[in-house]
Amino acid sequence: MLSRFRFWPTHFSATSKHIGNTDHSCLLALCAKLPNLYPAPTNACMLKKIKRLFSADPVSAVTLERIPASEHGIRTREISGNALKVIDELQREGFEAYLVGGGVRDLLLGGHPKDFDIATDATPEEVTRVFRRARIIGRRFKIVHVRMGREVLEVTTFRGTHEGGAGKRHAVQSDKGILLRDNVYGDLQSDALRRDFSVNALYYDPSSEEILDYTGGMRDLKARRLSIIGDPEARYKEDPVRMLRAIRFRHKLNFELAEETEAPIRNHANYLLEIPPARLFEEVLKLFLSGQAESTLRGLHEYHLLPHLFPGAAEILDTGSEQHQRLLYCAAANTDERIASNKRVTPAFIYAAFLWPTLQEQMEAHRADFRGGDQELLMNVSNGVLLAQQQKTAIPKRFQIPMREIWNLQLRFDRRDGKRAFAMLEHPRFRAAYDFILLREQSGEDLKGLGAWWTEFQHADRDRQIAMVNDTKSAAPKRRRRRRRPARKPQPE
Ligand code: ATP
Ligand code: MG
Repeated sequence: MLSRFRFWPTHFSATSKHIGNTDHSCLLALCAKLPNLYPAPTNACMLKKIKRLFSADPVSAVTLERIPASEHGIRTREISGNALKVIDELQREGFEAYLVGGGVRDLLLGGHPKDFDIATDATPEEVTRVFRRARIIGRRFKIVHVRMGREVLEVTTFRGTHEGGAGKRHAVQSDKGILLRDNVYGDLQSDALRRDFSVNALYYDPSSEEILDYTGGMRDLKARRLSIIGDPEARYKEDPVRMLRAIRFRHKLNFELAEETEAPIRNHANYLLEIPPARLFEEVLKLFLSGQAESTLRGLHEYHLLPHLFPGAAEILDTGSEQHQRLLYCAAANTDERIASNKRVTPAFIYAAFLWPTLQEQMEAHRADFRGGDQELLMNVSNGVLLAQQQKTAIPKRFQIPMREIWNLQLRFDRRDGKRAFAMLEHPRFRAAYDFILLREQSGEDLKGLGAWWTEFQHADRDRQIAMVNDTKSAAPKRRRRRRRPARKPQPE
């Protein structure tokens, strides 16, 4: 029974093409026969599919290609057992369910997917009824998180078209045409057409081991080409983050951008002004913490997208000093190296680095007329720099605090006398701040060997450390002590 059910979509789209969009009588006749053809629970799903078909787009010239295992080469054993369990469970309940998105794409490219997304015709509420440990999340785009052991699988319901009554009720667009909410459900075909790039719209069915391709994704994958689905300008307008995703996948996958996919980006980068800072922060993490930060930074600058994420850094790359420009690229390259060698990376470090040149330029500009020390100046200027950055990408407090600490510690590395150097080693942010000193030197800033000094100091034994501190004391120019004014004696009343 299940296998018969599984082939419904193709059978059905063939039927709908055959009868055209206006002749529904044929379908109604088919509905009438359903009770005899399928047992009760499956029947409910069938009726749902038929209803969706009535509200779907006029059938376009989209064709479905089925690629057998012998041609695509994905082995079921390469897929997370939990993802397979979720798909199997949904299919058992009479729903359609497939693996889709980055998981399928990366398996086809011979990589190791970081996660597996599942697409189904079950509504979020139906998914939560099938799995005990499932939770609906998201408002803009409802998805279900299904917990299996320690793994969380993302299950999304097939998206539908926005035209027609149902679309109006469940999709909300801003006056600029940006999709604010998209909870219109549809079928497999409409779901494929609403995805971003053809290589992200390949569906793998573990039970038949076939790949279903509605958008020419396999052809693009073989050509290592990123093609946006549908009209590029309209798709970017509807969700400008797709422009950032285009650049991200271009560098992550080392793909070419198809001509029509690439063409509108530069002129429409300002669509990103409409995206809330919190969403852009999430995108920044994906852009810069996935192992290709250096080339991605270059790409974002090249396509005029960087000013919408890091306006200060974009300005530095346009008109800043060479050393500051190098610092930005070195920060990105260091992050990539750390990821490649499985070291921990934190958004605080990349943010501290990307804002540092602007911070330095502003400190320079204000130094002459500022009455106070460098620490105070840094504090004042950093407030402004952070405030401006928050207009573009939100930065959660848990990252702002370490960023500020990394910056503040830069001014303390030079003060090494007495117990100061030892205290510095104990500071929770020492490691990141020390890496930052090395980064500054790597970009060509002359810090008089400070990086090398701290490299030796932290690894030296106690005697050597004491000797090093004493050496810096004698080498340092004597600081003039400010004489305290003697406290006034209280006057007798
Ligand atoms: P990654 O390897 O970074 O996870 P991914 O392609 O899986 O890449 P996700 O952000 O996990 O990216 O999204 C999963 C899938 O959802 C995508 O492959 C794509 O089909 C679809 N998708 C995600 N974001 C969008 C979007 N803004 N517009 C249209 N489809 C999208
Ligand atoms: Mg993914």
